Formats: sequence, structure tokens, C-alpha cells
Amino acid sequence: MQATTTSMLHFYEISPLQNFLWQVRKEGKKIGFVPTMGALHEGHLSLIRRCKQENDVVVCSVFVNPTQFNNPEDLAKYPRTLEKDAQMLEKAGCDILFAPNENVMYPQKTTLNFYFGHLENVMEGKFRKGHFNGVALVVSKLFHIVQPHRAYFGQKDLQQFAIIRTLVQDLMFPVELVRCPIVREANGLAMSSRNQRLNAEQQATASHLYKALKKAETMLAENSVKQIQKSVKEYLLNVRGIELEYFEIADANTLQIVEDLTSFQGDLALCIAAYVAGVRLIDNIVIENFSRK
Ligand code: AMP
Repeated sequence: MQATTTSMLHFYEISPLQNFLWQVRKEGKKIGFVPTMGALHEGHLSLIRRCKQENDVVVCSVFVNPTQFNNPEDLAKYPRTLEKDAQMLEKAGCDILFAPNENVMYPQKTTLNFYFGHLENVMEGKFRKGHFNGVALVVSKLFHIVQPHRAYFGQKDLQQFAIIRTLVQDLMFPVELVRCPIVREANGLAMSSRNQRLNAEQQATASHLYKALKKAETMLAENSVKQIQKSVKEYLLNVRGIELEYFEIADANTLQIVEDLTSFQGDLALCIAAYVAGVRLIDNIVIENFSRK
């Protein structure tokens, strides 16, 4: 632990954090956990605030996890703003910041491999090979280190949430998962650390991803999946500077692709991924209890 002038505690090593949290648990306090990769924005802070409401002690980790980057350039360019992050966390009421470096989290190379079945073959799993293996690896490590009662994740990374839910169920992590809504800019653009790599004009361009999703949503009642797909593609072809990677309609919980809307009943997700100025962005809308009947 390192002494700071503020009330939020900073930890960079595992053992001191575990010793501290052991005491917290002994006092019967509930530990809430928000894992992040830093470059924090209002989306992250909404998770911290929710976590604060529902727990006695809020732990936030900031670690840019190398094993979940399938693209080395993306990793190299990922924004790192730890000092500013710490200030934002402190203001939002975070109690503990855990900011390990790579040697702390990966003291030795691992060959461990997870396999998540069909989740590996659609959308983020399909286009970012190895990504979810890295996510599962780091989240498992973090859950073992922090041993939280509850952990908070954003709907922004919907497929990641399904991966972590599988991880928690199959490996019996004693943690309750909480999914929090997407926080957006005024123009609809989903907040993301990667938005920092876009200028104002590019951010305005990127907001068309959300507009495309909203357009798709209006078509759900009366159109086929194919018609909606076509319409989204055409809409985005007319926006200069967006390169669509995928648009899919899926079951919001299992992420199974939906091909026939007439027979689908349940929570529906419209999911999109695209590049703007070389920056990969994702977004989604969830329609709860969708049914045409
Ligand atoms: P990241 O730092 O990108 O790994 O994100 C850390 C957590 O914040 C993840 O659970 C994300 O889903 C969540 N998150 C990222 N962006 C947003 C957003 N715009 N609204 C809500 N949660 C978000």
C-alpha cells in the first residue's frame, strides 16, 4: 500500500490488497468490484456509483490487459491516464484502486485456454480471436484476488457479460454479477475509452452507429432480419468514414443469432461493430421481452 493525500487507497501489489480486504470481509462488510482498463469516463463512473450504492467497500481495478488484445496496434494505442483516473475514482466515491502492472498480473506466461462454445463463433468472438480467452483469464485472476460479493459490468460489452456469466457459473465463483446500462454522449455515441482517439468530427461520424441501431429498432415490428440488415448496411454506406464490421440481431442473454423474428420471444439485442478512423467501436441496444405475438 502506498500512502496518499486522499482517502482512496491505492494498491499496486496483490498481497497488501488481499490482507486489507481480508480484514474488510472479517468485519462483515460487502465488497463491490468494478474491473476496468482505465481511461475512465462517465460510463465507468456509473458502474462505480451503482457499486457504491449496493456495497460497503468499492474496489476498482485499472489494468490494460495485454492478453485480451488481438491487435498489437490497438494495445499500443490504448489510452493510459492513471493519474486522472485516480482523481475521477476518488471523486465518484471509490474506496480502493488496484492498479497492478503486467508483471504483477502475469508473473509467468500462461498457456491456459478457455473455450466458450458458440460465443466464440459470433460477433466479438468471431472477429476478435483470442479476445475472450484474455478476458476470462484476467477476470478470473481479479476475482480470485479481490473476492468480491458483487461485480459490475456494462451492457456496452454485452457478449463479454455473457462470457463472464458463463465463467462464474461454470467455475462457481461466489460473486453476484450486475449488468449496468450504457452511458452515451448527447449525440448518442456510446462512451468508450477508445473515443479519446477520435476528434470531434470523427465522434460525430461514430454517433451514426447508434442512429443505425435506432433505425433498426423501428423496423423490428414489421420487417425480416434480412431487410433490417440490408437497411442498416445501406444507411451506414451513406455515412462517410464508417466501415461496418458486423450488425447482428441476437438473443440478448445467450447471444445466439436470431434469424426469424416471428418466432422469437425474449430479450433481443441489436449489436454493431465498426471502424471509424481506424478505431474499432462496438454498441448495442437491448429490447426487453420482445415478441411479435
Ligand atoms: P473497459 O475499461 O472498456 O474494459 O470497461 C470497463 C467496464 O466499463 C466494462 O464492464 C464495460 O462494459 C463498462 N463500460 C464501458 N463503457 C461503458 C458505457 N458507455 N456505459 C456503461 N458501461 C460502460
